[in-house]
Amino acid sequence: MSPSPVVIRSRRVVLPEGERPADVLVQDGRIAAVGAHGSLSAETVTDLGDTALLPGLVDTHVHVNEPGRTEWEGFATATKAAAAGGVTTIIDMPLNSVPPTTTVDGLAAKRKTAEGQAWVDLGFWGGAIPGNVPDLEPLHQAGVFGFKSFLAPSGVDEFPHVEPFDLELALAEQARIGALAIIHAEDPAVLDAAPQTPGVHYRDFLASRPDDAEAAAVSRLLDTARRTGARVHILHVSSAAVLPLLRQARADGVQVTAETCPHYLTLAAEEVPDGDTAFKCCPPIRDEANRDQLWAALAAGEFIAVVSDHSPSTPDLKLLQRYGGSGDFAAAWGGIASLQLGLPAIWTEARRRGHTLTDVVRWMSSGPASLVGLTGSKGAIAVGYDADLVAFDPDADFAVHAEQLHHRNPVTPYAGRTLSGAVRTTWLRGRVVDVAGAPFGQQITRS
Ligand SMILES: [Zn+2]
Repeated sequence: MSPSPVVIRSRRVVLPEGERPADVLVQDGRIAAVGAHGSLSAETVTDLGDTALLPGLVDTHVHVNEPGRTEWEGFATATKAAAAGGVTTIIDMPLNSVPPTTTVDGLAAKRKTAEGQAWVDLGFWGGAIPGNVPDLEPLHQAGVFGFKSFLAPSGVDEFPHVEPFDLELALAEQARIGALAIIHAEDPAVLDAAPQTPGVHYRDFLASRPDDAEAAAVSRLLDTARRTGARVHILHVSSAAVLPLLRQARADGVQVTAETCPHYLTLAAEEVPDGDTAFKCCPPIRDEANRDQLWAALAAGEFIAVVSDHSPSTPDLKLLQRYGGSGDFAAAWGGIASLQLGLPAIWTEARRRGHTLTDVVRWMSSGPASLVGLTGSKGAIAVGYDADLVAFDPDADFAVHAEQLHHRNPVTPYAGRTLSGAVRTTWLRGRVVDVAGAPFGQQITRS
């Protein structure tokens, strides 16, 4: 039996055309009507007052790691963190789980494991690795949203990176089947040539992953995309050196999009404490001047999405000093845990820079939804869309305590920071998500 219709009312409803006072009628899990504030009625009216109502965020870059490395992160913990952070749809990355999602069997293992453990809606990326070209079409037909490849070593042996020859084959096949290729773009030769200085100093780690590693990889990728006609998406752009390459490629008609992440937009190399490997990720967090350039590109519409790249591990693999580790940036696992904090982290910085909630929703909800072809069901408060909604108090400040977050391991570079913006309630398909209650997230596929 479907629950009876509900009206959600707020003086700050973020609609595709901007923010305004409005009523949203939710029926059978969908948005049935959007009307003027006070104009719609139902047996239940939830009046949020001045608390904003946003469409649920769509995070297309999450590493759940289950099965196989569930001690790093799992479906239950990741999706609870998502729901608590206002994210109502996640798309899971194909690596760090064992098996990786590089075959239909690997996808089936993911889906089976996720059953009954999804507090938000959940879809899957496939992986394109050397030798699995024959697996791409069946995986695409099985509903993955596209295929991730690495141009440099991924950090796990079961997900090897593609050499230029493999990339050419993979992109040609993805052009043929109409798939979206998503790429971790760092160049292994540039990385190999960079100075490798282990230790607790962040500047040494930063020097080991120079801007040019990203620029060289993106340049090579764009050449291959041009030749094959594949549609490509650059994951987690960290270096502003990539931006002119993207502009030129777009001007040339290459189908290329790009994303960046909250940590590149809100953190900076200058402030990373010695030995605090919670900040380690690849590509790395760069300096403040670079961060300003990323913001300018974001404001100019050059990034289709801001997504978490939530990629935790256990504290021992992070070599965290407070867990008795060495704090060596070179040896620590590279990955930032932030799924629950992306919205307040971005909002805190966006507001300071004069941006609005409408901008944040474009970057974190409608943009990523359009990247993966979910426009029409996810990413907007509009009639016919899934009633995935978030009550968000933009003026509430809170201090981040890692142990209070829902993701499995209590590690995040935002620990100790004060952020603005609190998620009060999350609705998925019209029902309030209770992380202490039963999950009702659904597994979704590319349509
Ligand atoms: Zn990632």
